[in-house]
Amino acid sequence: MGYRICVIPGDGIGREVVPAAIEVLRATGLELNFHFAEAGWACFEEFGTALPEETIQAVRQADATLFGAVSSPTGRRVDGYRSPIVALRREFNLYANLRPARSWPLAGVPQDVDLLIVRENTEDLYVQQEHLEGERAVAQRVITRQASERVARAACRLAMGRRRKLTIVHKANILPLTCGLFRDAVREVAGGFPGLQVEEVLVDAMAMRLVHDPQSFDVVVTTNMFGDILSDEAAAVCGGMGLAPSANLGDSTAIFEPVHGSAPDIAGKGIANPMAAILAASMMLSYLGESEAAGWLVQGVETALRRGVVTPDLGGQATTAQVTAFVRDVVGELAAGRWYADAAQSSSGDSGAKGAWYASAHHELECTIGEGLLLDPPPAGEAPRPAVRGRRFQFNYPGSLGRQAWL
Ligand code: ATP
Repeated sequence: MGYRICVIPGDGIGREVVPAAIEVLRATGLELNFHFAEAGWACFEEFGTALPEETIQAVRQADATLFGAVSSPTGRRVDGYRSPIVALRREFNLYANLRPARSWPLAGVPQDVDLLIVRENTEDLYVQQEHLEGERAVAQRVITRQASERVARAACRLAMGRRRKLTIVHKANILPLTCGLFRDAVREVAGGFPGLQVEEVLVDAMAMRLVHDPQSFDVVVTTNMFGDILSDEAAAVCGGMGLAPSANLGDSTAIFEPVHGSAPDIAGKGIANPMAAILAASMMLSYLGESEAAGWLVQGVETALRRGVVTPDLGGQATTAQVTAFVRDVVGELAAGRWYADAAQSSSGDSGAKGAWYASAHHELECTIGEGLLLDPPPAGEAPRPAVRGRRFQFNYPGSLGRQAWL
């Protein structure tokens, strides 16, 4: 049976990172049936619409959708063009935008950060109701109790499954009606979740605390525009846009996308970081109930980061294709039931000279490893048998099973 996945690569690097995510998804061995659909600026130029009806139907028929990025004409109106992702969020009532930010094994990135921004996704200033009165431009900000309550419920449920802490971000001291309504609605909903710790932070203070004290947050719930800005900031704190995935959740379907845009400056150069799209695909697998496979994708990204297999935005020299192939191979090993450990994950022992890993004495092994250590489950009834396979070290020993390697 499998899953039906709608895929919308979009424009620019969306056309590079989404195929990368699909390559990695295929390595999970899950039955995923991909259905490709068009949206975005190139689509608008070719068909006169940025979001064709067939694409809307494809999203409707799918179990979940993977979206890349679309280019938008900046700062100018183009008749007939409207942002397809904004339109899709509205069409499918995808009212909660989840943007996780966590520490990755990267130099200069704060450790122990694990937060989730839950951004209201349907209203606020993004209702795009602007008009001109001569030299006066006016934009309407819409906040409703209903939308505030439903995003609050989603945020509270998520927080209860995590560290049970909810931070409400607003600016009710200056905007008591709009932000005040949002704050009150969230507080009322949160009151129905016993054991949930709730705090409020003004958006300007939040911008500062995200830099100085990102470890103190678990789930953060806020209005549309504040969430948009703060989630980019959180992504930057944790290693950059190339590592930031997101989910748009509604009651009937969900769309998963990297937070970054189409990045026209690097499109076509083969150097786009595919990790955000791969992590968005991981969020999609969690949504589909495939949490084990979702974890493999995260482990693949972590391993690539540890081994320095990264694109130029993270200071590396790898191409999109090289990062993708690395992550795909790790995921393939994990899906095949083999463990893939890494030097930095080893709990004990001495990693010895650079590039050389040593098994502890009782395993009587010594081996030079290039790409990581692979631990295979031993064949039933077989005696411990070390083997070197290519640059990988195969360790058929019952005691070797586990996430940690003895090195
Ligand atoms: P939009 O399409 O939303 O108008 P954009 O793509 O120009 O915007 P961002 O997504 O915010 O903007 O990215 C800003 C810059 O960050 C890009 O121009 C690019 O240089 C870099 N960048 C973003 N995503 C990636 C990525 N996945 N890999 C490498 N660099 C990236």
